[in-house]
Amino acid sequence: MDPDSLIIVALGVGLTVLAMLPTFLKREAQERRTRIAHAESLRYGLHEPVSLHPIVDPGGCIGTSNCVSVCPEEVLGLRAGQAIAVSPARCIGHGLCERICPVDAIQLVFGTEKRGVDLPRIQENFETNVPGLYVIGELGGMGLVANAFEQGRQCVEGIVREMARDPGGQGDLDDLIVVGCGPAGLSASLTALEKGLRFSTLEREDLGGTVRHYPRKKLVMTRPVKVPGYGRLPMREVRKEELIGLWEDIAHKVGLRVDTGVTVTGISRVDHLHFEVSTAEGVRRARRVVLAIGRRGVPRKLGVPGEDEAVHVAYALREPEAYRDDRILVVGGGDSAVEAALALAEQPGNDVRLSYRGDAFSRIKPANQRRLESALSDGSLEVLLQTLPRRILPDEVTLEWPDGRAREVPADQVFVFIGGELPTAFLRSAGVEIETHFGAP
Ligand SMILES: Cc1cc2nc3c(=O)[nH]c(=O)nc-3n(C[C@H](O)[C@H](O)[C@H](O)COP(=O)(O)OP(=O)(O)OC[C@H]3O[C@@H](n4cnc5c(N)ncnc54)[C@H](O)[C@@H]3O)c2cc1C
Repeated sequence: MDPDSLIIVALGVGLTVLAMLPTFLKREAQERRTRIAHAESLRYGLHEPVSLHPIVDPGGCIGTSNCVSVCPEEVLGLRAGQAIAVSPARCIGHGLCERICPVDAIQLVFGTEKRGVDLPRIQENFETNVPGLYVIGELGGMGLVANAFEQGRQCVEGIVREMARDPGGQGDLDDLIVVGCGPAGLSASLTALEKGLRFSTLEREDLGGTVRHYPRKKLVMTRPVKVPGYGRLPMREVRKEELIGLWEDIAHKVGLRVDTGVTVTGISRVDHLHFEVSTAEGVRRARRVVLAIGRRGVPRKLGVPGEDEAVHVAYALREPEAYRDDRILVVGGGDSAVEAALALAEQPGNDVRLSYRGDAFSRIKPANQRRLESALSDGSLEVLLQTLPRRILPDEVTLEWPDGRAREVPADQVFVFIGGELPTAFLRSAGVEIETHFGAP
């Protein structure tokens, strides 16, 4: 090769290396961050998925790392040029990673091989196997206020598109009944109002859902959401009372009517265009029904001797200030349990213990993780990991470890936060199929 050609080749190679350098450096930085995140994930138990989480097809991933950059919760990382789920327990299920992957190598799945999750069968538009019956929010497996809100909007926008395609058969029937007015039902109702649907919203308690039952002054951690017919709510942290006040204000301003104090007892599809929704006050009819009833209706119980007879066992905490100079046991490993334990530990004279069956608090938000660590280091809270309550007496609870060791802990008050039961019988009576998910795509 003559010297001129050599120079041209060398220049070409040099330019190629230069052009690839930023990509190489970005990858190196991401792999380094992944190593750190992986260590943190193991430390806090975030490597065990709780419910919805991404899985990456190792054969399909081409390592663009777009999914890593796009995930605000930092669920994914990059190892050996391929995406991996580093902290799947942090996933809140918005699916940005799945959508941005250019080769469809990512899928969001519920549950794991070891831990099945029961959910109503829902399609992408939130419709169940019963045509015209939709499930949104926590009932469909998607927890968190902002997710529930987003699903409410998306679901009703989809219904409106479908109605535009098939405008026939409207008659005198309402277009829609929304059941439940937590964040999911509220957002569905606001969208229905904005889009001019004929609808009603039936709520057995009051507007606000589970949020209304949070402990007093609880800081709700969320993300900005679009409120149909109103605008954007930009906040990331807001007190429970403020959030409820804001929602009530929005409902008032846009003229949303919620029929409160109305419990829906059954839903049946009468013919292919028509649902009957039964309540104590009578039967309502509509072409479609959106179920947004959450999962908190039936709190999950421990199922141990003494629980049903005990008057000092509760499944919600609204007024931590009401408890002072008490010996308290909180049971559970999620944000609700940790927040309750922390709030109770802050009250004067309380002696608070937190019992959790897991070996780490893998599902809680980073802010709660930090508060928990600080409470542990200042001794205001005792955490008993890998323990199961076995018996409840009026002033103590027997806890058991996996190796058979047992200990009686003093407890004048017991709070149990181990989630809610899926209202399986209610859903099945409406014809909705339930599936157990084991993390398979
Ligand atoms: C203690 C605690 C703390 C939490 N903290 C946060 C947080 O900081 N940030 C966050 O994003 N998420 C948090 N969550 C989770 C969040 O509250 C839920 O994911 C969210 O409220 C789910 O909304 P939803 O509309 O699907 O259901 P819900 O809020 O549960 O609303 C369901 C509504 O349906 C009504 N209903 C039920 N059955 C019927 C019936 N048969 N007829 C008529 N109405 C019915 C209920 O009365 C209720 O109003 C927390 C949860 C708990 C328990």
